[in-house]
Amino acid sequence: MSNQTKYRGRFAPSPTGQLHFGSLVAAVGSYLDARHYGGEWLVRMEDLDQQREVPGSADDILRTLDAFGFAWDGVVVYQSQRREAYRAAVDQLQHADMLYPCNCSRREIALMGRMGEEGIIYPSYCRDMQDRGGAKSARRLKVDAMPMVMDDLICGRYSQNLQQAVGDFVIQRVDGIHAYQLAVVVDDAWQGVTHIVRGADLLLSTPRQCYLQQQLRLVRPYYAHLPLVLDGDGKKLSKQSAATPVEKERPLPALYEALAALGQRRPDESVVSLDDFWGWAIAHWCRDLVAKSGRPTGGPPRLYRPI
Ligand code: GLU
Repeated sequence: MSNQTKYRGRFAPSPTGQLHFGSLVAAVGSYLDARHYGGEWLVRMEDLDQQREVPGSADDILRTLDAFGFAWDGVVVYQSQRREAYRAAVDQLQHADMLYPCNCSRREIALMGRMGEEGIIYPSYCRDMQDRGGAKSARRLKVDAMPMVMDDLICGRYSQNLQQAVGDFVIQRVDGIHAYQLAVVVDDAWQGVTHIVRGADLLLSTPRQCYLQQQLRLVRPYYAHLPLVLDGDGKKLSKQSAATPVEKERPLPALYEALAALGQRRPDESVVSLDDFWGWAIAHWCRDLVAKSGRPTGGPPRLYRPI
């Protein structure tokens, strides 16, 4: 980052349910990191997939953030309003001959491909087919076997061979919806985001995003992946698995718990209000205390279970 580039962070929830503790931890981590370094903090609603959207949850998430004392900069961006930009990015990739149509069904892919960490690895079946495609096709991005290496500010070096780990991946689905991987890269660049601080489940997606940045000639931001929060069964909390939403009426206990999940020190006795909490937590934020997560060194992920 050059001296002129100011830190700009963001929180990018998908409106698939109310804000639960796992997303709160991601919001707190990205907010504290941004504010501690004097940066801005944006909120972007990732509402591209209307089938997964729970009506009313976008507003509910914003009301919860507000009740918890988060103060975001600028207006909230909705990905559903940004389709034109995603179309332009698809055109750019198409002109560079990086895309091809694919109409393999899930079943066909399951029969052909082998399982990777992020689902079945697409075996490039349609890459050289002239007669596949047509109006009702997904579009896939060609990947290569060059290792994509990124240095995560928390997890350290992480490298992935996209060909072996994920295969040519979908940029636009058969129903026309642009894939998360594309939209997130286009929007982070357009919004001038310099630091992406988010849950470690997305570490595995980051090499795909860095690859897309290369193809679209976009600047790579800094990444920092936070430890995941598990439920009682050892699974990641997610809105879809209906993890209990955080209570808007009682923000402080959940915020204390989120700080603990991020490995931070406990605020002292003088902290009694939300304002006190944020003032203390921003001043005392220490990225080095956050547990490394993911598997950048091949070890098991380190996770946090709320007590
Ligand atoms: N929308 C994604 C989610 O809610 C997060 C995307 C990101 O932070 O890059 O899981």
